[in-house]
This record gives sequence, structure tokens and C-alpha cells, in this order.
Amino acid sequence: MKMNLDRMDKRSINRCVRCGSCRTFCPAFQESGWESANTRGRIIVIKSLAEGSLEADSRVLDSLNTCTTCGICTDNCPAGVNPPELVECARRELVARGIMTASQKDLSRTIFQSGNTFGDRGDRLAWLRDRSRLSEKADYVYFVGCMNSYRYPETAARSWELLRRFGVSLLPSEQCCGSPLFRTGFDAGKLVDENTRQMQQMGIKGIITGCAGCYATLKKRYSSRFSVLSIPEFLSEHISELGLEGKALDITVTYHDPCHLGRHNGIYEQPRRVIEAICSLKEMKANRDAARCCGGGGGVRAGYRDLSLKMARKRLLDVPEGVDFIVTSCPLCIRNLRDAGACEKVIDLVDLVAMALAQKTR
Ligand code: SF4
Ligand code: SF4
Repeated sequence: MKMNLDRMDKRSINRCVRCGSCRTFCPAFQESGWESANTRGRIIVIKSLAEGSLEADSRVLDSLNTCTTCGICTDNCPAGVNPPELVECARRELVARGIMTASQKDLSRTIFQSGNTFGDRGDRLAWLRDRSRLSEKADYVYFVGCMNSYRYPETAARSWELLRRFGVSLLPSEQCCGSPLFRTGFDAGKLVDENTRQMQQMGIKGIITGCAGCYATLKKRYSSRFSVLSIPEFLSEHISELGLEGKALDITVTYHDPCHLGRHNGIYEQPRRVIEAICSLKEMKANRDAARCCGGGGGVRAGYRDLSLKMARKRLLDVPEGVDFIVTSCPLCIRNLRDAGACEKVIDLVDLVAMALAQKTR
């Protein structure tokens, strides 16, 4: 099987000089120790597939599918290679030929059949108490995402309470944004089209989301006519209107940078501005562009749970002493860090904001 090099970025593959600098950073390699599970190894695998000198067997699939697409290798590659982009491209090439893991197959079937990552047939807006106030036309919609819709409905409701004051509405029948499909090599065009149709019908100008994966996908895969804002950006622009300043909470928290908000999109300061208005912030050992991945992204949590949780446990070692909460702004990071042992100590930025507002009204 020879992968179609025309559809791969040949120059990017050849730019890799195999220096191995990326080995130090790759969170998957740090846990597995296999050369094929580090950035350089993955690029060698991709090059060999493209040249036709390697068959796409299960070891190849494991090599390509254990990348969380965290992007720390991109930031630290002296040759300017973008490994997660190559990995996603290779996954696409293989999936197009029907070569995929059982987990990829299951995940894609689930999303295509149900419109969400959980195969949940229940009401996506079950968390919404009063639908009568939903406007059919709006400048902005809150894009909730699968995770907050079905697993963290209280965070969805709190986000909505903050956003609706500004005239933000909701899509009548939101579908998965497509992120898990794009990350794992599938074409999520149908989902993009359906969400876009609703956005156009509502006449929106922009989208606000509290999920790092949705944010990256909405920004990269949806029409550039829609502006995309993350909730940390939105909140940091409205600190005084929301009455957040004044350090309402006498607590200290740390902040975990989700890869797809931080490294992939440069959103580092906005969540910190919101936190510092509310309480004290103590940084994690590795933060901002050096932040370690939670291990959940790129389909790794779904396909390689043990490896994913090992990465999350490693990330928890970066938490400084004496903090009350680990705050983040991605439900997938929350899920993985909680499952790795941090439990209820990990909260969404919106949950912190809700605590501060409740304290003020006491
Ligand atoms: S991807 Fe970059 S850092 Fe890694 S081996 Fe290739 S050139 Fe070196
Ligand atoms: S994106 Fe992250 S997990 Fe993937 S190869 Fe690079 S450092 Fe490793």
C-alpha cells in the first residue's frame, strides 16, 4: 500500500532532519517509550508509508493513533515541521482506504449515527430550563459541544446563564462540530454543513464556545465569515460588565492550558485575566506554550485509555502545592484529569466564575 504523496505535504516530511529534539517533548513517548510512538518515529513511519516501503499494519496504526495532536513538537522543532498536521493527514489517507483501528471505526459510526460522540439519543438541550426565550435570529450563538451537552450539563447551563445576558442564542439542533472525526482521519463535512445551515438561518455573525476542540474546529473548518470566540476570550472582554473584579473568592487556583486553545490558538492570557480578577493564580510547573498535554486529544482517550490516563497523571504532577482547584477551559481535559485522579478538584473556568458571582450575591 503506497499512500498518495500528492495529497501529503512532501516538503514537510522531508524537512524533518531526524534530530530527535521532539523526543524530549512528546507526551505519548514519555509514557510508552517506543520510538514509533514519538514524533520522529511517526514521521519516519509516514515517510515509509508514502514511499511504499511499509505496510499499514496494527503497529503502524498504533504509532499514528497514539499522537494526541498536542502540538508541543511543532513549537520545538528546529526545522519547522508540523508533525500533528502530518499525522492527521496520514490518518486521513489510511481511513480513505478503509484502514483504521476498531476504536476509530466505533467512534465514527457513533458520531455519524447520532450526531454526538456518545451515541446519546437523548435531548441535547436537556440542560436548558426555559426554551421559550430562545431567539430564532441572533448575532452570536453559544456552541455547547457534545461533552458539555451530555456530560457536564451544569457547566453548559452556567455558561448559558452568562452568555444569554448579552443576547446570545443557541442553535436549534446543534450537531457535533466534527472535531473528533477530523482529528482521527474522517470527513466531517456533513456535520459542518448541518451546523452551518442553522447558523446561516439564524443570521449569526459569530460563535462562542467553551470547548477547546470545538473552538479549534470551528475556527479552522467552518466559514471564516463567522467569528469564533472561546469563553475565556468572551469573559475577559466582559470582566467589569459581569462584575467579576474584586477577588470575590479567597482561594488559590492553578490553570491548565488546553493544547487546542493554547499552543494551537495562542489563547493564554485571557483565562488568566479572568482568574486573577476573581482569586489568586499559582502557575503549573509547565504552562502556556510549555504546558504538558492532558493526554485526552486526537482520539487517544477513546482508543488508548491507559496511555491517555498515564499522560494525564503526568500532567497532574505539574500542579503546584496549596491550590484549591485546577481550572481549565476544555471539557475533555476536565474528563481526563478527573479520571486520572484529580476528581472534583478540576473545574471549568465558567464554574469558577459562577462561584465568584454566587459569593458576591450572598
Ligand atoms: S520533527 Fe523536527 S524536532 Fe523532530 S526529529 Fe524531525 S526535525 Fe527534529
Ligand atoms: S503532537 Fe504531541 S503527541 Fe503528537 S507527536 Fe507531537 S508531541 Fe507527540
